[in-house]
Amino acid sequence: MSLISLKKVTKRFEVKNDTILAVDQVDFTVEEGEIFGIVGYSGAGKSTLLRLLNGLEETTEGRLTVNQQEIAHLKAKELRQFRKDIGMIFQHFNLLWSRTVLENIMLPLELAKVPADKRCERAEELLHLVGLDGRGSAYPGQLSGGQKQRVGIARALANHPKILLCDEATSALDPQTTDEVLQLLKQINQDLGVTIVLITHEMHVIRKICHKVAVMEEGKIVEQGNVMEVFSHP
Ligand code: ADP
Ligand code: ADP
Repeated sequence: MSLISLKKVTKRFEVKNDTILAVDQVDFTVEEGEIFGIVGYSGAGKSTLLRLLNGLEETTEGRLTVNQQEIAHLKAKELRQFRKDIGMIFQHFNLLWSRTVLENIMLPLELAKVPADKRCERAEELLHLVGLDGRGSAYPGQLSGGQKQRVGIARALANHPKILLCDEATSALDPQTTDEVLQLLKQINQDLGVTIVLITHEMHVIRKICHKVAVMEEGKIVEQGNVMEVFSHP
């Protein structure tokens, strides 16, 4: 069974007298262990789609299941539990600037009520995983963009999620740093078996690490398949 499955998923926003069709009858599935990329121009509906996967937005129509659960049916408490299996990273990292790297990474562990000694141990383990050994007491403002995203990745993985959602995770980074961060994501996918769904407006990100791709335009998936297949079309 697929880890993520969308059947005719639609999301409409009602704004004043206007209806915005952000996601329009989208169908796709993501299998466990895959790196699935969604690519499209700004306004195509990618962020809305990602927020639907995390239960941050409700679908207007269609059926969306993640990790064997139909999100629309979850109650608030179940939704919080559901989100523990999902990590998320962002274009602008969303770190807390007044807290150290270690404190940022421990935040989700605190929320999950992991005991203090275990939190430290896990955070050190995560620092090592993302290649930031020894930087735990630094503040985000002292780090480069690539290092900040490594902290974001460590924080997202803190509670051992099955799925990592990446929202334009390399769009604020220079090309070399982008490659390094993508390499880290690939390693996390291979070594930890974390399924990754990423959205991006950059084709080279898709080529570099994705197994499957869906191309999005005006809320619709206009093409999808294995990366090699989709890109070999004339
Ligand atoms: P992308 O991530 O591909 O840039 P978005 O999902 O952000 O696309 O946006 C898709 C469309 O939905 C856009 O027209 C955007 O203005 C609209 N939209 C997104 N979020 C909201 C919202 N909360 N309220 C109203 N319209 C929204
Ligand atoms: P980079 O240059 O690596 O992209 P920035 O330092 O520009 O990272 O910060 C990324 C985001 O964090 C931006 O949205 C910025 O507004 C915000 N930011 C930067 N410094 C602070 C700060 N001291 N407090 C709160 N937010 C900040």
